[in-house]
Amino acid sequence: MKKTTFAPFAKPLYVMLKPVGAMCNLACEYCYYLEKLNLYKNSKKYIMSDELLEKFTEEYINSQTMSQVLFTWHGGETLMRPISFYKRALELQMIYANGRTIDNCIQTNGTLLNDEWCEFFHDNNWLVGISIDGPQDFHDEYRRDKQGKPSFVKVMQGINLLKKHDVQWNAMAVVNDYNADYPLEFYHFFKELNCHYIQFSPIVERICEHEDGRHLAAPDETEAHQMTRYCVTPEQWGTFLCALFDEWVKEDVGYYYIQIFDSTLANWVGQQPGVCTMSKTCGHAGVMEFNGDVYSCDHFVFPEYKLGNIYSNTLVEMMYSERQQNFGRLKYDSLPTQCKECKYLFACNGGCPKNRILTTTTGEPGLNYLCKGYYKFFDHVAPYMDFMKNELMNERPPANIMQAVRDHSINLN
Ligand code: SF4
Ligand code: SF4
Repeated sequence: MKKTTFAPFAKPLYVMLKPVGAMCNLACEYCYYLEKLNLYKNSKKYIMSDELLEKFTEEYINSQTMSQVLFTWHGGETLMRPISFYKRALELQMIYANGRTIDNCIQTNGTLLNDEWCEFFHDNNWLVGISIDGPQDFHDEYRRDKQGKPSFVKVMQGINLLKKHDVQWNAMAVVNDYNADYPLEFYHFFKELNCHYIQFSPIVERICEHEDGRHLAAPDETEAHQMTRYCVTPEQWGTFLCALFDEWVKEDVGYYYIQIFDSTLANWVGQQPGVCTMSKTCGHAGVMEFNGDVYSCDHFVFPEYKLGNIYSNTLVEMMYSERQQNFGRLKYDSLPTQCKECKYLFACNGGCPKNRILTTTTGEPGLNYLCKGYYKFFDHVAPYMDFMKNELMNERPPANIMQAVRDHSINLN
């Protein structure tokens, strides 16, 4: 078959930015990114220069085939750059926009937010993602600063400022060993905050000491490594999702957007899911570090997955390289038979390759650590997903599921 160069360009080129590398004012115990500082020990400072910001902005915008361009600012703690840095970023976006519409979203731990930041985000229509792990007790278990001081109170002050200034924001919550057994407390906290878009991410990490000081295992380090103490277990993850879903499907469809439920429904109807872990391929979102190094994915910032540096390769060369495309395809190609024969493969797609650290009962490697949890969840939600799919196919709102549940025309298992 003739190879075409057009196919990869049908998707927007997407590269997240690390304006302060892995620097952060907190030291959350489970953070996978903090230790990336060890990859850049020879750097005097970990901040993106104005020159690199301009180079990236021009090239990133010019590389797009779509009229909308999304800039994502990620950390480390993004607000450790002064506001002037982001004002300059906006100026550069305007200079190079060339008729394109540009959106910005930024991920932060929220502790450094003040009126000035919130005015800036509001006035420029930025979407702010706040890392918050639910109520104080849950949040403060792991999200502390380097002195061990908890951060919840400061994060809440930040959220209140976002609300005061009417900034669009959403929550990113990590599900770990400590909070996973309390799904409803977790969920009610966000509902009481009036937070309508919530992303729950399970934490899975293994310990593996490296000479350069990193202590988390890279995905290719497949030997049996001890799990970190804060990991969620597959059983906890499955039970957590099912309990959350049971409340959501009765009361909240169409009011609260829980990313994993939306993505599950997307896969049920054959659409692209919003979360990469559930899509068939990887490699759509690269990451550029403060010095211009580009990596395959935010969860694959390891020396083995460096695609190059923007000073020596173009973004298009790196993001559409054979290497990156193989990285993307490998998500499906490396699935064990258990996944390929699984009735929920279409919804699960084997989960994130970073977490495929188990062997199957037949001894094949590559099974996701969370498999049991995912399977339990998909099995639990299948009748509801079928119902919502049918509603969508008949151009009716999937939120009709709530009435069906109330009428007992569909029963919670
Ligand atoms: S490796 Fe994991 S985090 Fe990265 S794109 Fe794939 S599924 Fe997403
Ligand atoms: S539920 Fe388990 S077996 Fe099925 S596709 Fe997901 S990881 Fe593979």
